[in-house]
Amino acid sequence: MALIVQKFGGSSVADIDRIRNVANRVVEYRHRGDQVVVVVSAMKGVTDNLIDMAKSLMPVPSEREMDMLLATGEQTTIALLAIALQSMDIPAASLTGAQAGIVTDGVHSKAKIRNITPKKIHALLDAGNVTIVAGFQGETSEGHITTLGRGGSDLTAIALASALKADLCQIFTDVDGVYTCDPRLVPTAKKLEEVSYDEMLELASLGARVMQSRSVEFAKKFGVIFEVRSSLNDNPGTLVKEETQSMEDVVIRGVSLDKNQAKVTLIGVPDEPGMAARVFQQLAGSAINVDMIVQNVSHGTDTPSTDLSFTLDKPDMAKAQNVLEGMRGEIGFADVLADENIGKLSIVGVGMRSHSGIAAKVFEVLAAAGVNIQMISTSEIKISVVIAIEKAEEATRAVHDAFLS
Ligand code: ADP
Ligand code: ASP
Ligand code: MG
Repeated sequence: MALIVQKFGGSSVADIDRIRNVANRVVEYRHRGDQVVVVVSAMKGVTDNLIDMAKSLMPVPSEREMDMLLATGEQTTIALLAIALQSMDIPAASLTGAQAGIVTDGVHSKAKIRNITPKKIHALLDAGNVTIVAGFQGETSEGHITTLGRGGSDLTAIALASALKADLCQIFTDVDGVYTCDPRLVPTAKKLEEVSYDEMLELASLGARVMQSRSVEFAKKFGVIFEVRSSLNDNPGTLVKEETQSMEDVVIRGVSLDKNQAKVTLIGVPDEPGMAARVFQQLAGSAINVDMIVQNVSHGTDTPSTDLSFTLDKPDMAKAQNVLEGMRGEIGFADVLADENIGKLSIVGVGMRSHSGIAAKVFEVLAAAGVNIQMISTSEIKISVVIAIEKAEEATRAVHDAFLS
């Protein structure tokens, strides 16, 4: 008897018909005699609606109450799916993240899983139930409800697959697998049969929202092989696993576009040792993740100063501006500029390690499309550029087609 963890995202449980469809898929595995743990997200749009309601009361609501609020989205779905299964005479029981034994740290809205004690899951499975767990949530050891960051049900599924030593972990979504680029954005994108953890991690953290990046990090760390596939058909999906020799033969695995980034520039920062350390320590202390950083050459001879630009998640922009404004006196910079109208375009592939000239080709394609590059960052297996949002989608198609069609 195999133990399977299946995760269904928001679009797969968007309405009652879709929830019935999920119940039918679960039953297929159940009838084969497998033990099934199902992780579900909130119904499509629910999390966003809850956020909008809270923000209509207060622009920056308390993160503790936001977690309390958002956790209700997944709680609705687990109960509905359990009821759908019971209506088909399949024994099923639902658990919140806390009941499932998911213990996190206390960083509300982006909590990290500390440990999982899946006693109740085992008990329910042993009693013959399909066990349904609310994705995206856990609780601190003091009993406060936390959430695991947007898209966090993926992490719940992968972490449970690891804790339960599941034989199979399947992430069901609304596309057939992981593509060379978001198929909604690039019609020529192709489905990948397999992708390495490192490539998936880069694609995910650079905007391919098909998997939450933290969940891929977790899968890599604990060696959880998982499959991304459609909840709407039986087509084979994409296997995400450790790198194999043959993967290096492909130079570029995929392209992603992140439109959820913003750029902040500090103008006229005194060019002295310790300034960047102070700025980024303060941002980190406020749980703001910074990604690309560019500091230009000093200008001015009497009091040399620099401009310091960095990118961050768009929802953190207002918080970052507040933090930086609070440091104006201490640091003595001239101004803070914030730009939400950017996109980060990236190309990813483990084969880039052993090939040169990829960056030059990206820049050439962007130049031909009349796209100005604002920032650049590279690693062994990726190249990212920040560009204006108006041109971002067109640029993504151009770069994708230059490398991957
Ligand atoms: P779920 O509700 O199942 O969690 P998401 O909306 O989070 O689903 O993720 C699925 C979506 O990810 C797809 O509908 C697709 O538009 C988008 N996506 C972005 N990049 C990719 C990619 N490289 N491959 C597949 N899908 C992608
Ligand atoms: N409902 C949460 C979100 O919308 C978690 C998830 O869908 O995975 O981000
Ligand atoms: Mg998702």
